[in-house]
Amino acid sequence: MFTLHHIPTWLVTWLVSSLVVFSRYFLASGLLFLFFYILKRRSFLNRKIQHAFPKAKEISFEIKHSLYTSFIFGLVGAGIFGMYKIGITRIYTDTSQFGAVWFALSVILLIFIHDTWFYWIHRLMHHRKLYRLIHLVHHRSHNPTPWAALSFHPLEAVLEIAFLPAIVMLVPLHPIAIILFSTIALVVNIIGHLGYELMPAWFVRHPLLRWVNTSTHHNLHHKYANKNYGLYFNIWDRLMDTNHLHYEDIFEETTTREDFPDPRPQPNTRRIYEQ
Ligand SMILES: [Zn+2]
Ligand SMILES: [Zn+2]
Repeated sequence: MFTLHHIPTWLVTWLVSSLVVFSRYFLASGLLFLFFYILKRRSFLNRKIQHAFPKAKEISFEIKHSLYTSFIFGLVGAGIFGMYKIGITRIYTDTSQFGAVWFALSVILLIFIHDTWFYWIHRLMHHRKLYRLIHLVHHRSHNPTPWAALSFHPLEAVLEIAFLPAIVMLVPLHPIAIILFSTIALVVNIIGHLGYELMPAWFVRHPLLRWVNTSTHHNLHHKYANKNYGLYFNIWDRLMDTNHLHYEDIFEETTTREDFPDPRPQPNTRRIYEQ
């Protein structure tokens, strides 16, 4: 008789980690969507970055592709666990081995490595030979919602996470530091696709905070698709001159509006911009 013991361990690890990735995404994106797009839709209209609201079929497209991505991220998670089991990673479980300072630094380091990886892999995917093949799925959302956070073509999902198995072989990392980093990455990603700008107007004028990305920053990437490639920071965008020319002006306009009339749902313009 077939019992659960017949299911290979790698398959169980894959399914469990995929379920964790998807549930975390679904819960965070779902709660933000419920709050901003349904319950408090009218209260935050002046902070909506783009006037239109996306259609239900666009949202179901975003959720469907985020589910595919969860299985790919889950597979990589299970793969890293397998790599740890056979002893080819530098993952450590004894917290006293490297101390609290390294624990905090390792999370910050992961964020900066990921930011650099993301910027360059993202620019590569905007190359005309790769854009339609790999990145177009993510850019089907011209006016993204929090559901778009993991809406990638499977090949893009592989590229997005490919740095992590390499890093765990090189850098000593505690499993909780990896979980903390991946949660921060998801939160930043969801905020980038929120569709609302919640930061104060002075944010982009602050000498330090102006280097941190906002929801408006990534929203402009979805609207025009030829600027603003960064994830956490706009350091690379400023260095490589790919920051949207009017980013600060658009941000300021969004954060200082008195009112914004409730628009009827309208189809997004299906313009594809390529570099
Ligand atoms: Zn995006
Ligand atoms: Zn893009």
